[in-house]
Amino acid sequence: MTSPTPTPDRRLFGPGPSNPYPEAVAGLNRPILGHLDPDFLAIMDDTCAMLRTVWGTENSRTLPLSATGSAGMEAAFVNTVGPGDVAVIAVNGLFGERMCDVAARCGADVVRVDHDWGQPIDPQRVADAHPSPKVIAAVHAETSTGVRSDIAALGRLKGDALLITDAVTSIGGIELAADDWGIDVGYAGSQKCLGVPPGLAPFTINDRAFARRIEHPQSWYLDLGLLGGYVGEASARHAGRTYHHTAPTGMIASLHDGLARILAEGLPAVWARHAEAGHILQDGLEKLGLELFAAQGFRLPELTTVKVPEGVDSAAVRSELLTRYNIEIGAGAGAYASTVWRIGLMGHNARPDAALLILAALAEILG
Ligand code: PLP
Repeated sequence: MTSPTPTPDRRLFGPGPSNPYPEAVAGLNRPILGHLDPDFLAIMDDTCAMLRTVWGTENSRTLPLSATGSAGMEAAFVNTVGPGDVAVIAVNGLFGERMCDVAARCGADVVRVDHDWGQPIDPQRVADAHPSPKVIAAVHAETSTGVRSDIAALGRLKGDALLITDAVTSIGGIELAADDWGIDVGYAGSQKCLGVPPGLAPFTINDRAFARRIEHPQSWYLDLGLLGGYVGEASARHAGRTYHHTAPTGMIASLHDGLARILAEGLPAVWARHAEAGHILQDGLEKLGLELFAAQGFRLPELTTVKVPEGVDSAAVRSELLTRYNIEIGAGAGAYASTVWRIGLMGHNARPDAALLILAALAEILG
């Protein structure tokens, strides 16, 4: 008989997942309910209501998809674009690239608008890329580069197009106002600033986008038309509930309790906590003589990118952080894999003590 492998208690300061809020961990320990149990349906309703608050939306179709953020991305495109539909996609990092791949697989005619990595998107250039796209898509917080883009500005320029926004790394960490900014379809992830383990993709779609959706998308699992009944879209909530797939009830309880914890603190206070922690970290890194990668003025507090100093072995430093200090940070993405580190202070980790811990460990290792 083999004994269970002990799991080290890491500090997850990479690009995600983050260490979950204790309340979200406690949520995992609740008794597992059946997916049509009235008590579970009440938890689901409550979760969707709290998701509306963190998204900044009144959309009735706001739900946790039973999969990770990438499935949120797939759901956004597979339900809105089909063969020949024009999708204008802003690319300033890895996740914009992924959007292009996903949209192309749906058969869309992808018009990509490339930007330098480390820079925010240029909303005017994106809006000018095509006269009548069906969708325009952009990443709010590019995790590959640590850059925030102005989605509100893109929303003002979108014209008749539907605006798809990736909020995987922004939700629960920095201001997000889906309705005010003109976001028609948004997807996110549970594992970053929401401070919940990986496995769910908070998703929202407004009436305008739902009315223009692909009626019979090639994905059965992510068909939003079918998923309506799963979260009880009908006004007679519980009576209208239908089986679509087995909801991951334990994970949804965890998301529920994580969201309740965030809203108890208050969203503005949570955003301010992320801002403070990120500021301490970024300031401290510069004081150590390190250079930040993301453009000034657009740096995410929750995800800092820093250049690996000349002559330093990026992987060796990450390995020493992990083995000696139990701290995980991320490598760079794409072409910057070995020249940039990515340091996340998300959700429960968005605190001054976490920022100071990383700075102390890095100062020790870099000497
Ligand atoms: N979009 C962004 C901005 C991300 O940071 C990530 C994950 O890091 C994803 C999409 C994909 O999410 P997941 O890895 O949960 O599938």
